[in-house]
Amino acid sequence: MKLNLTIKPLNTWFTESNQPPLIAGPCSAETEEQLLSTAKLLAQTGRVAVLRAGIWKPRTRPGEFEGVGSIGLTWLQKAKAETGLPTAVEVANAKHVEEALAAGVDVLWVGARSTVNPFTVQEIADALKGADVPVLVKNPVNPDLSLWCGALERINNAGITKLAAIHRGFSSFEKTAFRNEPMWELAIQLKTLAPELPIFNDPSHICGNRELIPYIAQKALDLDMQGLMIESHIDPSVAWTDAKQQLTPTALSELIGRLTLRQAESNDNKFVDKLTELREKIDKIDDQIIQKMAERMKVVEKIGEYKRDSGVTILQVSRWDEILQKRSDFAKALNLELDFVGKLLELIHNESIRKQTEIMNEVKA
Ligand code: PEP
Ligand code: MN
Repeated sequence: MKLNLTIKPLNTWFTESNQPPLIAGPCSAETEEQLLSTAKLLAQTGRVAVLRAGIWKPRTRPGEFEGVGSIGLTWLQKAKAETGLPTAVEVANAKHVEEALAAGVDVLWVGARSTVNPFTVQEIADALKGADVPVLVKNPVNPDLSLWCGALERINNAGITKLAAIHRGFSSFEKTAFRNEPMWELAIQLKTLAPELPIFNDPSHICGNRELIPYIAQKALDLDMQGLMIESHIDPSVAWTDAKQQLTPTALSELIGRLTLRQAESNDNKFVDKLTELREKIDKIDDQIIQKMAERMKVVEKIGEYKRDSGVTILQVSRWDEILQKRSDFAKALNLELDFVGKLLELIHNESIRKQTEIMNEVKA
């Protein structure tokens, strides 16, 4: 699968003064007072780049609070006027896009329940044509990388180049500590397919509870994700949606203050020198491993010829058990993970059997 996106670098369209770039705000705008008071405190922290608030809420069951609707746009305008924070809302159809753009919303995002549906994404993309607004695309609810890529392509094909992805975790049948399984490998695969595409992490929807958020946020930064989207509410205990996962603006600010920022590439010469030295060591060790592997194969060939000429079978199960046991004991003594060593030995063993089979089938010289 290839992903050809035309992307404007994040620092050309996102306030750079905040590290890591943080989008924060309530899961839902509930009242004008709730949104404005939250926004003011968030702005005071000095850590927030964009104010988020859901006004059209995708809910699992009908009858639940489905967002305040278009009136929320005027509250967002007020919040922006009073705090200077740019604003972001979720859009799930053409009407949402048109209204949000008309109201001057600065950033739009496509929710996880919309990304799963190419009809919805295409409708949103068509409504975005001609607009120069940043759009963030959440991963689909189900762990399907193609759907995520497809949605990004549709939005990009509509001419949106201020584009980023949001990793918010995936639904899984198994009940785990997370509301949505992070499945980091999918975000990493997306990064590999489109290195120029910025990825935000949304620890709020991955965790589903406040307690785990710092762990996931830090892990996202360690994996070189570019930014964070975190839900924050003036009083999470009375939030109308996602109450368990929202943080007060103060708690959010403390959390951001505790995160360790790491640089993917560093300009610090001492660091670069040390890294080069360590990498050279690794290169040397890898060469030795391959050389030893070649030596081992030569011995395997000899054994194969010997077995063939003596009419003995290739596989002697007791010998394999002995190898596995001895090597595992050795590996354990060296603090190596047994599962890893087991898999490695099995690979080597399979290759040895393949080689010996080849030799068995050769006509005796
Ligand atoms: C949200 O951001 O409040 C939201 C509904 O998120 P998601 O689409 O990730 O479920
Ligand atoms: Mn939410």
